[in-house]
Amino acid sequence: MVQVIDIIFVGKLIHTPSLGTLEIEDATVGVHQDETIRFAKSHHMLKNAEVHVLKPLQFFFPGFIDTHIHAPQYPNAGFGIDLPLLKWLEKYTFPIESSFRNLDRALEIYYRVVTRTLSYGTTFASYFSSLHTPASALLAELCFSLGQRAYIGKCNMNTLSPAHYCEKSCKSSVEATNVLVSFMSQLDPNRKFVSPIITPRFAPSCTKDLLKACGELAANHDLPIQTHISENLGEIALVRELFPDRKSYTDVYDHHSLLTPKTVLAHAVYLEDEEIETIYKRQSGISHCPTSNAVLASGMANIRKLLDAGIKVSLGTDVSGGYTPNMLVAIRQAALTSRSLASVLRDSRIALELPELLYLATQGGAEVLGRGHEVGSFEEGKAWDALVVDVSSETNTPVDIYERDTWENILSKWVFNGDDRNVAQVWVNGKLIAGTECKIEDTSLLNLNLASIYMNTLTSPEKKSLRLQEILESFTKTITLPVTQCVSDGKVHAEPWKHSVEREDTIEPKSFERKQFLRST
Ligand SMILES: [Zn+2]
Repeated sequence: MVQVIDIIFVGKLIHTPSLGTLEIEDATVGVHQDETIRFAKSHHMLKNAEVHVLKPLQFFFPGFIDTHIHAPQYPNAGFGIDLPLLKWLEKYTFPIESSFRNLDRALEIYYRVVTRTLSYGTTFASYFSSLHTPASALLAELCFSLGQRAYIGKCNMNTLSPAHYCEKSCKSSVEATNVLVSFMSQLDPNRKFVSPIITPRFAPSCTKDLLKACGELAANHDLPIQTHISENLGEIALVRELFPDRKSYTDVYDHHSLLTPKTVLAHAVYLEDEEIETIYKRQSGISHCPTSNAVLASGMANIRKLLDAGIKVSLGTDVSGGYTPNMLVAIRQAALTSRSLASVLRDSRIALELPELLYLATQGGAEVLGRGHEVGSFEEGKAWDALVVDVSSETNTPVDIYERDTWENILSKWVFNGDDRNVAQVWVNGKLIAGTECKIEDTSLLNLNLASIYMNTLTSPEKKSLRLQEILESFTKTITLPVTQCVSDGKVHAEPWKHSVEREDTIEPKSFERKQFLRST
């Protein structure tokens, strides 16, 4: 039986299927109804397909995979570079994250985060959310509706955090996590597009029983894990003080069964040799966050050493420690960090080459997130998660191409001078979902029944309230909740232990209007 091919793409195809390998070829690629890639081999297949032919200075590239980004910190992207990690958390980060108990705010910001990262070509992101379950569920819904693959992690943090932004106990943290896991299991039962990820914020913000419980949650639900490790010297000293019976920062996680083949460890700047060995043994992966490491003056991670040890490495923007969710900037900073380190340590091998950097941003990310067989490069049988990159003069970006430029040069010029205007099309799982050439008619195919419609066309307070009500209903219908939702004032209170007095929550001019609306529907 002849298989039906839905779309045939014809054009330059560039990818890095393995570390250090760069493939540039003229290709004809078929995307089947089952949304995987097949290379078209005979003409009769063309009869049933739409054919997309790229323009001369356009090429296909795998979608970027950002393995470490804090969605609720997005409003802070671009400022706050004056403090080291622990003080930065206190001054900038905890205040913004704690405001996500307000779902209106979460919807507005998370919509922006997902559409912005898509515009930069991020087709798969591993997000830290705040500690709030409803806002985290909303982020999951947004990613699912807008078509971005995502891991969504509600932060687990029950100690050494400000009173207004701290879970009251291990038990409540686990309960809140279970609610999110149940909600997301209904949203995407196969976890093909969105999956929960267990997210102990970092060792200092979790008690020992919570660390242990997080390891158990991941094992019981077969879920990935993400956390921070060895980012900054002050943080490492704090971990040593808090866990004196453990050999190292890595040993803290290992002891609590948090190092698995599906664990993403962000930063890893100061790992000792023994820690590297443990991480290798457990097959956990690293998210290298060079922009954030530079901004917060945390340090320079020696990625060559980790790669030489056989550890899986990927790239993260780490917004808002990193100042932009643009993965091209993460690639540039990874290049510069490795070159600076090569010069400081007088070892030219430490410098990462362009094919290696591009691998970290694509296939490397897929491997770290445990999805290397599905996405990250263009191989037969994989999903079509692809960008159409346009470097023609029509894009009016600083990527200026001349006749003598080779494709290697063009690729490098795009990496170092390009921006979102060069991202013409963003495809996830065989569907066009974003990019400068993506028209409204294209996105309407995606069943955008939730957030985008809400944000683009329905802006009245009544419509907002209706949306909130839908979210609440979806929660109460699908999950047995220990009365963690309270709608009497038209707003959501995610955790009963978070009823600290806050002006934002108590004096809310629209609350009366909402209450009336909720009652009348
Ligand atoms: Zn981070």
